[in-house]
Amino acid sequence: MARRRFLIAGTATVGLGVLGVATQQELKRWWWRMPGNSTPRMEGQVDDSRARWVAAADANLRRGDRPADYGIDRVIVHVTQGSAAAAVKVFRNPEHRAAAHYIVCQDGQIIQMIRELDVAFHAANREYNERSIGIEHEGWIDKPQDFTDEMYRSSAKLTAGICTRYKFPADREHVIGHNEVPGADHTDPGRHWDWDKYMRMVRAQMKVESTLRKR
Ligand SMILES: [Zn+2]
Repeated sequence: MARRRFLIAGTATVGLGVLGVATQQELKRWWWRMPGNSTPRMEGQVDDSRARWVAAADANLRRGDRPADYGIDRVIVHVTQGSAAAAVKVFRNPEHRAAAHYIVCQDGQIIQMIRELDVAFHAANREYNERSIGIEHEGWIDKPQDFTDEMYRSSAKLTAGICTRYKFPADREHVIGHNEVPGADHTDPGRHWDWDKYMRMVRAQMKVESTLRKR
């Protein structure tokens, strides 16, 4: 494996000088697809320390090396249209061909099913999948009581962490609903999702984190 990696590295370096910046980006994307070149990862590792890991089926994601291969600058908010348990079940089903990185339950628990490194198939838009983290929320879009304070608080903390990790602003251009993805035929999170409250909570959390970091 080490020898193979060395040979490929040699080829890539020769190519870079000739081919320019756009191609460098392509080579970087191509690079991690070679066996043995992805960022080391450990089974059960999570990106938010509060999350519990349950792996999604491999067919519902594409292995990546974000943010090295694709930058992350969007959070996409979804609603499961069912229980968290039902969402876990479909995300573990390879036939489903879709899954999000996280599910936030009504009691505030977080389940992570796909690493942030990887591209989850959740937005039904390739470009938006590549640049985003998808967060599902347990409930039904037409049941406002499903959107509990515990859920908002826990999700806001998760989103604040993502905005901080990948250094993009916590605003409505970067934190969007599935319904706002270009070409989306989904309506989640729907009219009962309280964006003003959610974004206030995300920004408050970011302030707390930046204060903690400065200490
Ligand atoms: Zn959705």
